[in-house]
Amino acid sequence: MELNRRNFVKLLVGGAVGIQLTPLPWKLTDDIAIWTQNWPWVPVPPAGAFDSVKSVCSLCPGGCGIAVRKVDERAVKIEGRTDYPVNPGGICPIGMGGLQLLYDKDIRFTRPMKRVGPRGAGVFQDISWEEAIGTLCSRISDLRSQGKPEALAAVDGSYMRGSTMSLLIERLLKAIGSPNYLRTPSFEDTYQMTSTLMTGREGPLACDLENSDFVLSFGCGFLEGWEGAGRILNAWTILRDKALSKKAKVVQIESRASNTASKADLWVPIKPQTEAALALGISHVLVKEGLYNRKFVEEQCFGFDDWTSSDGKEHIGFKTLLLKKYGPEQVAQITGLKPSRIVSLAVDFAKAKAPVALFGKEKGDLNGSLYECMSIMALNALAGKLNQPGGILISDPLPLGILPDFQQDPVALAGNSKPRLDGAGSPSYPFTRSLINNFADTVSGSGDSPVDTLMVFSSNPAFTLPDGGRFKKALEKIPFIVSFSPFRDETAFMADLILPNHTYLEKMDDVVWPAALQFPLYGLSRPVVKPLYDTRHSGDVILQIAKKLGNTIGDAFPWGAYEDVLKIRAMGLFKSGPGLVHYDGKTQTWEDLQVKTALKPDYKDFDELWKTLKSNGLWYRPQYATGAGQDPFKTPTGRFEFYNSRIEQAVSGNTRNGSREEILDAMGIHVRGDEVFMPHYEKPAIPVKSSDYPLQLVPYELINLATSWTPSPPFLMKTLYDNELLKDTSFAEIHPRTAAEYHLKDAQRVWIESPSGKVNVRIALFEGAMPGMVYLPLGLGHSAYDEFLRGKGSNPNDIIHPSKDPLSGMPVWWNTPVRITKA
Ligand code: SF4
Repeated sequence: MELNRRNFVKLLVGGAVGIQLTPLPWKLTDDIAIWTQNWPWVPVPPAGAFDSVKSVCSLCPGGCGIAVRKVDERAVKIEGRTDYPVNPGGICPIGMGGLQLLYDKDIRFTRPMKRVGPRGAGVFQDISWEEAIGTLCSRISDLRSQGKPEALAAVDGSYMRGSTMSLLIERLLKAIGSPNYLRTPSFEDTYQMTSTLMTGREGPLACDLENSDFVLSFGCGFLEGWEGAGRILNAWTILRDKALSKKAKVVQIESRASNTASKADLWVPIKPQTEAALALGISHVLVKEGLYNRKFVEEQCFGFDDWTSSDGKEHIGFKTLLLKKYGPEQVAQITGLKPSRIVSLAVDFAKAKAPVALFGKEKGDLNGSLYECMSIMALNALAGKLNQPGGILISDPLPLGILPDFQQDPVALAGNSKPRLDGAGSPSYPFTRSLINNFADTVSGSGDSPVDTLMVFSSNPAFTLPDGGRFKKALEKIPFIVSFSPFRDETAFMADLILPNHTYLEKMDDVVWPAALQFPLYGLSRPVVKPLYDTRHSGDVILQIAKKLGNTIGDAFPWGAYEDVLKIRAMGLFKSGPGLVHYDGKTQTWEDLQVKTALKPDYKDFDELWKTLKSNGLWYRPQYATGAGQDPFKTPTGRFEFYNSRIEQAVSGNTRNGSREEILDAMGIHVRGDEVFMPHYEKPAIPVKSSDYPLQLVPYELINLATSWTPSPPFLMKTLYDNELLKDTSFAEIHPRTAAEYHLKDAQRVWIESPSGKVNVRIALFEGAMPGMVYLPLGLGHSAYDEFLRGKGSNPNDIIHPSKDPLSGMPVWWNTPVRITKA
């Protein structure tokens, strides 16, 4: 084997991947035996009756089926289910360690509490549920009687877009009179906007990865936990098997030699944030060489060729844009690749029978750039591979039951008519539903906080937002914060009142279409153990709050228990047509997805569906969401839109707010002319002098660290290597050449400093790092939780310098200029 940079890196990183793909990492197994002897809360089950309870994991959007082994009433082990069509028998290290989140009292809250120490110190006093709910309700009643219900806001970080809990939170706010329902950002937001704009369908990202033969991945961390490791690692195995017989190929495009890059057939390192340019460069070659799907483009797309609108105005089409601005030489200048590489990627993509271009960087839990996502989607369309085996499957949301409409009283109507504090949906951000970054800036930038009371559900924005600590600063200004988190996280430590939810193993909740799955699936988790402590399901608490507030608010929530609401939602599935509630694990769902014969339901009526759903956690329809030959596009033109009608309407309809120039500036869009309405590359604006901050920070994710709102099970800290975390210090990966420029040695302590702050880390020299970049892992640097997570490493989010994605206005993660100094 030739030992070049790529092979060398593959050798180094390959070992780590092998370990992470075993059911339980060897290092973990090795260390736990000694380590756990000092942990008082490690479950040591007494002899008793053995049982195994089926449920669904909701620790990430992957929605894996799990079986929890029990001895008497004590849960002792979590395994993957082979009778669940998402994750044939497999789960990830986080899912495997889930019992620690159930048992570790230093990680979770065990009863309602009120704050008695300074904010952030985590000093609380026990109170009763009656006092907790009463305190919140009287605060809300006061706001309503002062005529400012909009001063109540909520942050929701539920992994599942469209989950029943999310519906209830938004409904509560609406019934009270506040439009300020916020969500923490995720890649699903970017995808949903892309799909709505280009295809007119709002369904979740669905991709038929298992049936692809050429995967062009724009940074998707397939081995880092992309869209839920349970299914994706299985899909990876299938792709690798096919690769061995030369029937499939995975190309990984990202600047760092991640585990995925090092195990892919081809690693294409490009400058971060130039992915849109590469996608457009590949499209250029497809068009110029006639390698695109002419029939699909002519019959089902809009805006490919130049055209004249009804007012007689001439417009350029996507083809002209590609040919003019995205030739291989031009794209090579932007991405740092050779032109020949761009051409060969295009030829390979065109030659494949079932190619797919995929988006959603790292785990897919960070929002992306909207124009970038549109550029990659356009590539799939040029290949004519939407709704085809192996491709992106555009779809509608799950046909869940709709909750009945309700009456708003005059106070609620007045509050709901006020503008949102984050500007989402306004002329500047017409397609974005929530902008928590703007919300933080609005609160921080006001004299008195416009928010009086903030409720926080299933999220930890003080830790997870890429904003250099701005959200945390905003929290300091908000007079009253209520956390519904089951966990003692950083945001909860800022709260005045804790109304703790059950952990995921103690409650019934829904998993609405696991991330990126090909076909519609509704999962239902169940309590595998009775709640261990005095916690309550947040769904039930919302019903109790509404009842206590009474009048129209109480009337909007006529249900006795959260389960009643879930049942209404499941009724929608029943009415939508046939589905299945059992899976025998013998047939692989991805092998036979195209609709051939009508599906026969395996339940006789709704009662049987509901009963089985509660015990087996599963309803699904193993067919492509939208088959070929149907009418897939619901855009204004009825076609897949390269030239986007909705963006054009949003810009044109906004003229009373300023000149076109001003409107585009307010939307953060720098190009002009027809290009605004088509996928294109926008050069990121660097907010500071490059001589002051000459390097670029790129955060990355690991499969064995939770990076979103749920904590990592503490055992996982023992799976980190000594060049990832050494005692309390995490490592920044840099290329040896960059280290030499700054006279740095391996493991040396340094400061990484951005315009937003600095962190103290050690240097890890890594051949797989792109020169000029600094890579920091996400998921470390907690100031909350237990002694095994608190104070371990640094959180890159603390120094990410906030900037906004053009058009969507969402935060940008990969654009922070930094400098390194010796510590
Ligand atoms: S991939 Fe996600 S859903 Fe599956 S076991 Fe891991 S954390 Fe749970």
